Amino acid sequence: MEKTDILSMNKEELTAYIVSLGEPKFRAAQIWGWLLKGADFSEMKNLPAALRTKLAENAFVATAKIVRKLVSKDGTIKYLYEMHDGEKIESVLMRYKHGNTICISTEAGCPMGCAFCASTLKGLSRRLLPSEMLSQIISTQKDTGERVDGIVLMGIGEPLDNYDNVLKFLRLVGSPDGLNIGYRHISLSTCGLVDRIGKLAEENLAITLSISLHAADDETRSSLMPVNKKWNIEQLLTACRAYFEKTGRRISFEYTLVRGKNDTVKDANKLADVLYKYCSGMPLHVNLIPVNNVVERGFLPSEKSGIEAFASTLEGRRITATVRRTLGSDIDASCGQLRAEHGI
Ligand code: SAH
Repeated sequence: MEKTDILSMNKEELTAYIVSLGEPKFRAAQIWGWLLKGADFSEMKNLPAALRTKLAENAFVATAKIVRKLVSKDGTIKYLYEMHDGEKIESVLMRYKHGNTICISTEAGCPMGCAFCASTLKGLSRRLLPSEMLSQIISTQKDTGERVDGIVLMGIGEPLDNYDNVLKFLRLVGSPDGLNIGYRHISLSTCGLVDRIGKLAEENLAITLSISLHAADDETRSSLMPVNKKWNIEQLLTACRAYFEKTGRRISFEYTLVRGKNDTVKDANKLADVLYKYCSGMPLHVNLIPVNNVVERGFLPSEKSGIEAFASTLEGRRITATVRRTLGSDIDASCGQLRAEHGI
């Protein structure tokens, strides 16, 4: 018999489950409190031993077990976590003055095949359960003793490829009964699964959507991101506009600067043109990411002067541009550097 994934349940589901085991409702509240602290059934001391045994026989608590922990000079922590079946994923805790943000993985491996990214080198191994996304946060809070204030779904995997589990996770994490992390402090990044962007717009979640754009013409984008052959820039940006119109939420565009590929002033103007063509009337914000090193890939970041020229060209076109601060580069914890097994 397959065991019940208890950490993927919301409070009502958990209560119904506990009642179905013939137990009184108040036990659910006790168990819920323990689960948020990262306890396993054996540690739930205020439950009768017989109930702990019954739970362990019928259910499991997803855990993210620390296999390796690296701390960067800048305070960023990268965890290599192991799931119950041995799958490994990474999470990164970034410490800012305004609070702690965790970057979590949504899949073990990634099916999308972007040319510059380490996470996709071995393809998709499997999708993570809602509980396995939650457990990355719970384990990190337990390890550091610090609260996580914000979440970015920008680790390994494509969140919209694991749509139902990601949505369940978002509702669990945002619940006032649960970790209670406000949707405004959550960002979801996608390489551009257009059909799912449309679906997400209907969910009424005040999260921030980030779009990995990375190029302003289809030829360049298709060479960097295979997904562009399925949904091109016009389709993607049209979906972004519809998302904005439906939700009123601003969208952030991510643009990785790769030397000699997409980083000239001409490219910056082309980017501004395409954003105005399909997204005029929307607040336009571009997050520039100088490409991070991935040994197997060999792309080089743009020169500092080139990055500045790119950003000021966008600003001159009234598009706000920020250059993403590179955190944790000394521990390979920056964008696109997360992977399962490297160095193990
Ligand atoms: N699959 C989602 C979530 C990953 S988020 C997505 O594609 O958006 C990680 C971000 O880092 C994405 O914008 C991704 O394109 C970017 N990225 C990947 N590899 C990178 C690299 N080597 N340097 C800089 N950014 C990279």
